[in-house]
Amino acid sequence: MASLPTKLTTQLMNGGAALANYAWPVAGRVFRERLELDQNQSLWASKTPNYRPRPALTKTITADLAIIGGGFTGVSTAYYASQRFPNRRIVLLEAATLANGASGRNGGMMLNWVNGFDDAPPDVTARIYQVTSKGIETLCQLIERHALPVDFRRDGTVTIYTSTERAEAAHAHVEAHNAIGIPTRFLNATELRRQLAVEHGCGAVFDPDTGQINGAQLVRAMAPVLEARGVEIYEGSPVVRVAEGRRCVLTTLQGEVHADAIVLATNGYTGALGYFRDAIFPLHSHVFATRSLPMEAQRQLGWHRFAGFSDDFDRISYASMTRDGHLVFGGGSNHAYHYLFNNRTVYSGGAAAARHAQVEMERTLSRYFPRSRSLPIAHRWVGTLGITFDRRPLIGVRGEHRNVYYAIGYCGHGVTLANLAGEILADLYCGDESRWRDLPFVHGGFHRIPPEPFRWIGYQVFTRLTGKSPRL
Ligand SMILES: Cc1cc2nc3c(=O)[nH]c(=O)nc-3n(C[C@H](O)[C@H](O)[C@H](O)COP(=O)(O)OP(=O)(O)OC[C@H]3O[C@@H](n4cnc5c(N)ncnc54)[C@H](O)[C@@H]3O)c2cc1C
Repeated sequence: MASLPTKLTTQLMNGGAALANYAWPVAGRVFRERLELDQNQSLWASKTPNYRPRPALTKTITADLAIIGGGFTGVSTAYYASQRFPNRRIVLLEAATLANGASGRNGGMMLNWVNGFDDAPPDVTARIYQVTSKGIETLCQLIERHALPVDFRRDGTVTIYTSTERAEAAHAHVEAHNAIGIPTRFLNATELRRQLAVEHGCGAVFDPDTGQINGAQLVRAMAPVLEARGVEIYEGSPVVRVAEGRRCVLTTLQGEVHADAIVLATNGYTGALGYFRDAIFPLHSHVFATRSLPMEAQRQLGWHRFAGFSDDFDRISYASMTRDGHLVFGGGSNHAYHYLFNNRTVYSGGAAAARHAQVEMERTLSRYFPRSRSLPIAHRWVGTLGITFDRRPLIGVRGEHRNVYYAIGYCGHGVTLANLAGEILADLYCGDESRWRDLPFVHGGFHRIPPEPFRWIGYQVFTRLTGKSPRL
């Protein structure tokens, strides 16, 4: 059990994060949100029991590069920027604790591909696949190079197609992809049942490069690696104001950073900082995980080989299995996804709504694995996704002085890309974007999302009437 001072520190930091992220000055609401944050612990974070957050920033400092946000994007940017510029002062500011956001609360699927480019021409398709596949490879090498204590597996994932027509179309896609060097494989319904005993599915696409990873372990294990290179990490340090200029000033609750360049690594939280409010919105998504299942229980369930699966629905369902036997399940219906009024980034649905979402999700899971009904659920959490209208991520640099870098809006597909984003941003920061210039999501534009209250009303009407996501 955490000691009282540790508990108090954590609670204060969570309160601070809520304050900064949502600029919500009403004490009662902050208190309620803080309590929810305390209960909202993912399976991934529970596997970092000895993690001790770094102290908050309590003074005014200068920096060459200041990164806002301690998830995959922020940590990977700090890693690659400090590798390029060992003598520059790099500072990372995290509102709560490292991996507090989606990076520590996701479904764990380490996937290929970038959302929003399904109709891309073959050369772009091949390039996107090559980039993300290399990204997975690089991530696994990084874990090995630094001997990071991170649970991951890379034995492939499948996308299940739930109608004969969609399965046939997927089969044709696989053949087209194989012709341009993408090594996916089509599994017919019989092969699918043999490899992953799902009851629901007319075929599947197997991607051998992909897998599953514990994001909280990864982000938190990177902290000492960064510190050994001189990166300064401040947790419990929400940025409450950004003043751009040749020198940007970031104001936190107790300190200030004057930096030549800054990075917005705040994904779904970015709107709360005043940036990209018309480009990205936070969507809240539920996940649950079982207790560690013994091999026999996994076998009875029918989970044989792969790291995970997702399906082809608009509101996708996905599940993955950790090496130590936790089945992680997320998504599945409108109940599993929530958009809150005015960019709010703390899920305010309360415990009853979260339980309702879980019941719905368990029902969906049991369509795939009928024996999952009696599984003991040990973890349930909510995380904040950053969604763009056309589902394309945004990576680039902006501002009058071209010193505000950003990588956001991965639309639920950021485990690979947000880790790769650090490499891209470090190159942009050093003025060498030659490696990434041909990628359509670097310096790309975006479709505007209507302002509130039209956004909230539009979302509710569209999703309730159609049961679909607000995508183009
Ligand atoms: C429920 C869920 C399931 C998902 N499942 C998958 C999956 O299976 N596969 C996949 O590829 N992707 C998945 N994703 C998406 C993926 O996790 C994200 O795209 C990725 O983690 C984004 O990383 P990030 O570092 O950009 O953002 P985040 O991890 O959200 O980090 C942003 C950080 O910024 C901090 N912050 C915010 N505001 C401030 C401020 N003002 N000052 C200082 N710090 C601030 C936050 O506390 C947070 O730690 C999922 C996401 C969710 C929520």
